[in-house]
Amino acid sequence: MDLTGLRVLVVEDERKVARALQEGLLREGCVVKLASSGEEGFFEAMSGEFDLILLDLNLPARDGLEVLQTLRKRRVSSPVLVLTARDSVEDRVLGLETGADDYLTKPFAFAELVARMKVLLRRGHDDVSDTLAVSDLELQSATRSVTRNGVPVHLTAKETDLLLYLMLHKDQIVTRAMIARDVWHDTQRATPLDNVIDVHIAHLRKKVDDGRPVKLLHTVRGIGFVLTQKKP
Ligand code: CA
Repeated sequence: MDLTGLRVLVVEDERKVARALQEGLLREGCVVKLASSGEEGFFEAMSGEFDLILLDLNLPARDGLEVLQTLRKRRVSSPVLVLTARDSVEDRVLGLETGADDYLTKPFAFAELVARMKVLLRRGHDDVSDTLAVSDLELQSATRSVTRNGVPVHLTAKETDLLLYLMLHKDQIVTRAMIARDVWHDTQRATPLDNVIDVHIAHLRKKVDDGRPVKLLHTVRGIGFVLTQKKP
C-alpha cells in the first residue's frame, strides 16, 4: 500500500516537527495541511476532508485530547494518530478511549510513523494484517516483533527501525544518506553516520541472514543496501 494522494492533516505547534513531518509526508506523495494550534486543527478537521489526522496532544488554544473528544462527538470519523511526548500509560489509555486510533511517542522514526499510518488505513478498509514481509522474514508493525521462517529474531530498537525502513522500501536500493535522514533523523550530516550505519547493517544482516540459504539483505557497492529476495 502506498500513501500517494492521501490527505493528511498535521496538528502540531512545534514548527520544526511540523515541517519535518510535512517534508516526509510530501515525499510519500501525501497532500499535507498544517495546523499549529488546537483551535485551527479542530476547524480543519471538522471539514471532514482528511483521510488521516496526526494530532499532537500538547497544543496551545485547545488541548489535543479535547480536540479529539469534540471531533468524535461531532462524528468526524477520520482516523487519528496521536503524537505525543507524554510517555505515560494513563495518557495512552486516555487517548485511545477518547477516540484515537493509534498512538506514537516522540521521538519516533519517520519510517515507523509511515508503517503505523499504513496499518491504520488498512484497518479502515479491510482486515489485512499489519505484517510486513520479505520472503520468510516478517515484522509485525504493531508489536515490532520479527521472525524469520517463524523463529523469533531479536533485534535492538535501532535495528528494528532500520529493518522496518528497509522493509517499507523492499526491492529498492536505499542509500546511506536516506537511512541517515529517515532512520537517524540526521539532516545535516555534519558528522557522517556512515560507519554507524554500516555497523548496524552488519549486525542486522548477521541476525537476519546468517546460516540461511537465501540471503535477503544485500550491499549494493558504492550506493547502499537493498532488502530483497531477488538477486540484486
Ligand atoms: Ca506540542
